[in-house]
Amino acid sequence: MREPATFDADFGPRFCLTVDTEESFDWGGPFSRVDHHCRAVPALAQGQAFFAAAHVTPTYFMDYPVATNAECRAALGSAFADGSAEAGTHLHPWVTPPYAEAVNPVNSYAGNLSVHLEAEKLASTTSAIADNLGVRPKVYRAGRYGIGPNSHQILRDAGYIVDSSIRPLFDYRDQGGPDFTQEGCTPWWTDAQRQLLEVPLTTCYLGWGAKRWGAALYPALAKRKLGMALAARSGMLSRIPLTPEGTPARLACAAIDQALIEKLPVLVLSFHSPSLAVGGSPYVRDASDLKQFYRWFDTVFNHMAQRGVRASHLAEIYQKVRQPT
Ligand SMILES: [Zn+2]
Repeated sequence: MREPATFDADFGPRFCLTVDTEESFDWGGPFSRVDHHCRAVPALAQGQAFFAAAHVTPTYFMDYPVATNAECRAALGSAFADGSAEAGTHLHPWVTPPYAEAVNPVNSYAGNLSVHLEAEKLASTTSAIADNLGVRPKVYRAGRYGIGPNSHQILRDAGYIVDSSIRPLFDYRDQGGPDFTQEGCTPWWTDAQRQLLEVPLTTCYLGWGAKRWGAALYPALAKRKLGMALAARSGMLSRIPLTPEGTPARLACAAIDQALIEKLPVLVLSFHSPSLAVGGSPYVRDASDLKQFYRWFDTVFNHMAQRGVRASHLAEIYQKVRQPT
């Protein structure tokens, strides 16, 4: 039985902005230890300046290639030092030492590795961040949302306090990843001692079918891509993750409203750091896309403010729920 995190009544709904901070690679190609680059890393500086001006403290989940890149320190080092950004760990096993496993889709999910190897890769990334950024991360997101049966214990043993790897309503089993279709978005304690808090990403169902069938309907539709597209187009059912990557701002705002109706205490926004540079991800192909990308945040931050949802970050969320009420 899971223990949901409880918040004081005066805490109010909060949102966290989380960034999977990683190298650029071909998202459609095979996994490779070498075919990647960090040319989008300097763009983090512009992103951080934008978010700081909006009084939002982003969490940068950094993976090994980014944490060991000198330009990452130049872009984010001062923000970590003055608390205007939160450092976290991200794990892409295929580019993280020790390199002991075969490179393939199944092993791209860290949770599928042996407990020993998953722990060693977490440790090497944690050390890389501490050594190069001068801050010891305590919050985590697995690459590709790839947590497994050992991940929470590994994180607790390594001194982590928050995991944010669960992406509710998504199913990655077709590539050997986890199935989150039965997961909810409310934060919960992973252990009786309240060492590690799970703060899932936020995904909502919208549409008239959501109320009637919701969770039961989507998996059936998801088996047929055409079914999903028709359901979305007819207004019957859409699955909306809170991300500028593929979710229009107006739908994100509608999903925020739905999350508040469902009394979700913490809303988690997310995106991938290469999207901050032109050509860095499939979502930002040119300067106009980048402008649109930033505009998405203007719209969503304004909407959060209108709805009374204040910005927070994961360590603050943890502190607010740590003590029994
Ligand atoms: Zn990633």
